[in-house]
Amino acid sequence: MSSILVTGGAGYVGSHATAALIEAGYDVVVFDDLSKGHREAVPQGAELIVGSVLDPAAVRGALAARPFEAVMHFAALSLVGESVANPWRYFRENVGGAIELLEATVEAGVKKFVLSSTANLFGEPERVPIDESEPLIPGSPYGESKYMIERMLRWADEIHGVRSACLRYFNAAGACPSGTRGEDHTPETHLIPLVLQVALGQREQISIFGDDYDTPDGTCVRDYIHVCDLADAHVLALPALEQESLSLNLGNGTGYSVREVIETARQVTGHPIPAVMAERRAGDPPTLVASSGAIRERLGWEPRYPTLEAIIETAWKWHKGHPDGYEPQP
Ligand code: UDP
Repeated sequence: MSSILVTGGAGYVGSHATAALIEAGYDVVVFDDLSKGHREAVPQGAELIVGSVLDPAAVRGALAARPFEAVMHFAALSLVGESVANPWRYFRENVGGAIELLEATVEAGVKKFVLSSTANLFGEPERVPIDESEPLIPGSPYGESKYMIERMLRWADEIHGVRSACLRYFNAAGACPSGTRGEDHTPETHLIPLVLQVALGQREQISIFGDDYDTPDGTCVRDYIHVCDLADAHVLALPALEQESLSLNLGNGTGYSVREVIETARQVTGHPIPAVMAERRAGDPPTLVASSGAIRERLGWEPRYPTLEAIIETAWKWHKGHPDGYEPQP
């Protein structure tokens, strides 16, 4: 059985990817410092090693746990606004962590690396839908930190033959359909969980950050992609890395506005979800929608939950069942 080391496997996307890997028959070791992730999110069957990618000895210890076929790297800070407020922390932790991990990956002789990358690499894109030929002009220190890691991976391939898949996520959303795994961030800043917190009675209303954008209803348009569909792409990337390194955009190819998200959540939850207008949030591009043509063609990827209804229904099941997120086990 092939073994995969998953950094950040106790986090939102990493834990879903871990579950998908186990489902596909891989043996998984999760390496996570639990600063953002949750011990309870690590799927059954995965081994958890608690440690930070910033700690060279811990990283080397984790890589020595098994002969690994690949490393999947999710462990990172990921908030655009926070990265603008504190760019040095983002460069230090995201880029610094990736340097430690990559150096140790090369030393351990692992030849496949999958990076959790971001559509923030495209800043304010010139063309929508965004395909892989779009210029890379990161929109924030967060995006820049991922871009730097992508550049390092190019040299890891060139010098050491480490093949990498950089998967540039659009808006990860939804939850495992079983309702056992989902989004649990503190603080929560993402639209769908915040809207569902209103439906749960935990917030009075949702603020719409600007309705004067150049979009059909004036609110920002995003490509929401189900977290299990994101996870599937990581599993599909592993055999593809036998051939070559890849950089692929990972979204559904359909955009929904903030108003459409709120309206769909009203239908799914049956709650009126009051909404109020608020100022634009700094750094939000009007529209971010992926072209999913390349990932479909190169990896044979097909989303299983492409509709906004399915994404919000699964998220709702998770939030209703876990109104306070993951509960520490006794
Ligand atoms: N948004 C909003 N109100 C909120 C949170 C988010 O109007 O309370 C908007 C945000 O401005 C963006 C969209 O919802 O246009 C998606 O934001 P999110 O933070 O979920 O993801 P991002 O696109 O920033 O990665």
